[in-house]
Amino acid sequence: MRTITEPSRQIPVVDEADVVVCGGGPGGFSAAIAAARQGAKTVLIERYGFLGGAATAGLVSPLLGHTAWNSHTPIVEGLLRELTERMHANDGAQSWAEAIQNWGIEFDPEAMKVALDEMCMEAGVKLLLHTYVADVVMDGEQIGAILIENKSGRQAVAGRVFVDATGDADVAYRAGAPTTHGRAFDQRPMSMGTFIHLGGLPPVNASRAAELRELIQQETARGRFLFYDGRFLDRCAYHKDHTSANMTRYGGDPNSAADMTRAELSVRENTWKLVRYLRENLPGFEGVYVQQTSPGVTPRESRQIVGPYVLTGQDVSSAAKFDDAIARGSWWIDIHCPMGWAYPAHLCRFECPKENACPYWAAEHERMFRHAELFVPDGDWYDIPYRSLLSIGVPNLLSSGRCISATHEGMAGARVMGTCVAIGQAAGTAAALATGSNVLPAQVDVQQLRAVLRENGQLV
Ligand SMILES: Cc1cc2nc3c(=O)[nH]c(=O)nc-3n(C[C@H](O)[C@H](O)[C@H](O)COP(=O)(O)OP(=O)(O)OC[C@H]3O[C@@H](n4cnc5c(N)ncnc54)[C@H](O)[C@@H]3O)c2cc1C
Repeated sequence: MRTITEPSRQIPVVDEADVVVCGGGPGGFSAAIAAARQGAKTVLIERYGFLGGAATAGLVSPLLGHTAWNSHTPIVEGLLRELTERMHANDGAQSWAEAIQNWGIEFDPEAMKVALDEMCMEAGVKLLLHTYVADVVMDGEQIGAILIENKSGRQAVAGRVFVDATGDADVAYRAGAPTTHGRAFDQRPMSMGTFIHLGGLPPVNASRAAELRELIQQETARGRFLFYDGRFLDRCAYHKDHTSANMTRYGGDPNSAADMTRAELSVRENTWKLVRYLRENLPGFEGVYVQQTSPGVTPRESRQIVGPYVLTGQDVSSAAKFDDAIARGSWWIDIHCPMGWAYPAHLCRFECPKENACPYWAAEHERMFRHAELFVPDGDWYDIPYRSLLSIGVPNLLSSGRCISATHEGMAGARVMGTCVAIGQAAGTAAALATGSNVLPAQVDVQQLRAVLRENGQLV
């Protein structure tokens, strides 16, 4: 490949903070709010013009992982509960009491955006929106500053502890810290996706909805659409005047702009194919329209930062407990096939029969799809250990959200948004404790961290 040499230049340092959080999704906004409330001077950098990550930019709903598996016992409170209550006050989410009776917390992404703005401003977080984390500048083995790109040009934000909440471990990767990627046997990450929102639908009763879901699945099997499910009538968001459905998958590398571009085009193409099909073939559906597509297709999985402990699928399904627990998760090993919809096995979530064309139907795949082994026992949870938030390569780096130290199977459970918010609260609190005592994250007293989390309403 032809290369050119970028001329060296002086970069202005536009901010110097104790804690620099990169990425404003569930793992990032929570880290920034927690760090700032703990007294750390905190900067939060986000490439979009709003916070929320997949919750807002991917239109993903509901927030999962707030209760012990198959029960109504909360396992995550703290910032997650506060956010829910703030959205509820704006008629943008269920109340907390309602939410714990439900399998997830349904919410309106617009109510989340404004609630997060308010929480960050009240906590004193310095927000840098529309700003891309482009690179890092090392100071020995530690990160000295983040290089950012935005309309002002290339700038630097210096800090003492850095929290990588980009989902894709962009900071760790740029810093040269060890990271892993995807399945152990072929490094392919889960397929990416987004929710699609449709409006203008006629009222449909439950049995007709089941028939229509089956119809779309049949049409998908015939090759008309590339979806992994036909559930276009699902209403997973809080407001029920439109549908909000999780049915898209695209197999590719989220760290490849070419693959992300193909994913965006494919999601829009198939959404519109569905709308045209409904309009033209189903009486009563002539007025269906695309209410919105998300600002961005979102990876389910990308890079994982390698820490002193790697959370595994075995930890998830055995409800493992740790002395250095800083968060709880209960979501199952929910793997969306890395091959996405590019293969005949569109519906491989539960069954991936050998006769299907998937070339990766290997021993590991077989093991993954033995159902009972994928779930946390009813009423139980697994702990997320603090060691899974550390980096073995860069001592002043913490990870948060879906890019913590975990295997493909371990992150498949811990990646849901309720768990990511709990992880973020812990990451931000730990970062503030580290800078407050002038120690590295690995030297933070974990029992003190757990005590502070409990004081702030978290269940650890
Ligand atoms: C299609 C789909 C459906 C899902 N369904 C559910 C569900 O129903 N319920 C549930 O709880 N979870 C669901 N998940 C999982 C969940 O949404 C994610 O795992 C979770 O949002 C991860 O949080 P995060 O903060 O780690 O990452 P993200 O939510 O991905 O947030 C990362 C943030 O970092 C920003 N960022 C990334 N790189 C940079 C950079 N270089 N510079 C600046 N900013 C950057 C992004 O813009 C984003 O705001 C789903 C995921 C997908 C993709």
